[in-house]
Amino acid sequence: MGIIRKTRSVKALLTEFEQSKTALSTLELVERLHHQMNRSTVYRILERLEDDGILHSFTGLDGLTWYALYPNEGSLHSHHMNTHPHFQCRDCGKTECLSITVPIPKVAKHNVESVSLLLVGRCADCAS
Ligand SMILES: [Zn+2]
Ligand SMILES: [Zn+2]
Repeated sequence: MGIIRKTRSVKALLTEFEQSKTALSTLELVERLHHQMNRSTVYRILERLEDDGILHSFTGLDGLTWYALYPNEGSLHSHHMNTHPHFQCRDCGKTECLSITVPIPKVAKHNVESVSLLLVGRCADCAS
C-alpha cells in the first residue's frame, strides 16, 4: 500500500486511525501522540499519507483539519477524489466519513475535481 516507509511513527499514527474508526483532527492526534513524536512530525506524516492516498483531509467545524482513512477501501480510494461527505456531531464532536458519494457538479468552463460537503447535526448516540 503506497510507497511510504512504515516507520515506527507512521505505524503509531495509522494505529490511531484503525482503532478509532472515525476521523481524527490534527489537534486530537498531536495530543494523543505527544509522548511519541512532536507536532511537526505528526503534520509531516499526515501530509505524506495523504499524498500516498492512504488518508484524506477535510475541514470541520471551527476550521479544524480532520484526517481519515478512506471508507469502502478500493472504490473511492482508487479515484483519489474526495466525493463522499462528512458528518460532524454538534454535541459530542464525533466526525465521520459517510459511505455515500456526492456527484460532482458540472460547471461550465470549470474543471471541477473534488467536492467538499460537511453535514452537521447530531449523531445516533446523541439523537437518542
Ligand atoms: Zn454525538
Ligand atoms: Zn472522509
